Formats: sequence, structure tokens, C-alpha cells
Amino acid sequence: METLPIRTGIFGGSFNPVHIGHLALANYLCEYGELDEVWMVVSPQNPFKKDQQLLNDDLRLAMVEAAVAGYPKLKACDVEFRLPRPSYMISTLRRLETDYPERRFSLVIGADNWLAFRHWKAAEEILRDFDIVVYPRPGYAIDTAALPASVRLVETPLLEVSSTFIRRALQEGKDIRYFMHPASYRLLCPSSSASIEAVGLSENTPSTENSF
Ligand code: ATP
Repeated sequence: METLPIRTGIFGGSFNPVHIGHLALANYLCEYGELDEVWMVVSPQNPFKKDQQLLNDDLRLAMVEAAVAGYPKLKACDVEFRLPRPSYMISTLRRLETDYPERRFSLVIGADNWLAFRHWKAAEEILRDFDIVVYPRPGYAIDTAALPASVRLVETPLLEVSSTFIRRALQEGKDIRYFMHPASYRLLCPSSSASIEAVGLSENTPSTENSF
């Protein structure tokens, strides 16, 4: 009997840090979005574009891993850490389909990214060879009648949270623990104080003393 490919959504981002908006969306897509799994692909720091605001690669990945532990439909994926940088989605998708032939990969992007999608590297190739799942983002209207056949809009609940909000809140010394998964939050703020000074880290080297 022929086995069906595992429908796997690829949800990329810097996850700096991962928050409940990302997790609720990925969770929803697994349960209601016609996907068997969603892989959260953590994009690595571009070595030529050092961003002092970007937490180190290993910590961002560890926070995603901690958040998804125990829910097998979500996975943290570090494939882009091993690809040439800057990493382009077409290379990520090609690598994954080579490494996991038993899966059928779809790209998961927000409405904001869909509206700019034609500027992506190899946009036509992605459209031709992969399905795309677009989820709503506030302020970015999608004309569903104009979507190509391989692109589908899913209606998902929206949580108004961003990593920028979390970073700023921590810099201001706020305790915003309920905006993150508790296990990720513990990695980011190992002390009970939510102060970002307690977290430290900006250079791309693992450290126990991290700061933005
Ligand atoms: P930042 O504030 O640092 O720009 P972010 O919160 O937008 O970060 P990213 O790591 O850039 O997070 O997000 C990865 C993907 O998740 C992006 O495609 C982004 O559109 C989406 N995303 C971000 N926040 C939410 C949210 N609250 N709900 C659903 N999707 C989100």
C-alpha cells in the first residue's frame, strides 16, 4: 500500500525570541491547516550583517526546541545553520526535500511576506514546485481570487505579539513571561528577574551571560 507523504509546513524566521504568536499559529496550522507537522526553521545570523539585536543562533534554536518539546507536530529545524549564508528559502526547501523524500514540504508565510513574495529569490520556482500556505497578518489584505493554484489562504486566529515587543519589554525590565512559552522564557531569563541584563549576549557565540 502506498504511504502518503507527511505534509510538512516550513515556517521560517529569526525567532528572536520565539513567542506565543509564532507557537499559536504553528499549533493551529497542525490542527486545522491541513498540515501534519510544522517545522520552525531558525534563520542563522548573517556573518556579514552582525545585528546586535540578534540573540545567538544556539540560544534562539534552543528556545524553539524547548517550546515545542512534547508536541510532536512541531519541530525546531536548524537546516539553515548548515547552508551557505545568507540563506535563501529555495535552498532550504531543496535541501529538505533531498534529505526527507518521504515528506511533502509547503512554505508557510504571512500575508505581508506573500505581498512581497515576487521579490524572493527563485519565487517562480518555489511557486511551481511547492505549495504555499498564507496566513493573515493585520493590515495586509489578500485578494483570494488572484491567488495562484498552489497558494492557499488559511484563516487563523491572530495574536498581536512580536519579538520586537518582547525585546523592548525585557530591556525595560518588564516581566512578560506569559508572552512566551515558559521553557523558552526560562532559557532567556534564567534568573527569576525578567531583566534583560540577566540574560545578556549579542555576539554569535554561546554564552550563559546573554544580552541584546
Ligand atoms: P521581529 O519583531 O523581531 O521582527 P517577529 O515577531 O515578526 O520578529 P520573526 O522571527 O520575524 O518574528 O517571525 C517569523 C515569522 O513569524 C514571520 O514570517 C512573521 O510574519 C511571523 N510572525 C511574527 N509574529 C507573529 C504573530 N504574532 N502571529 C503570527 N505570525 C507571526
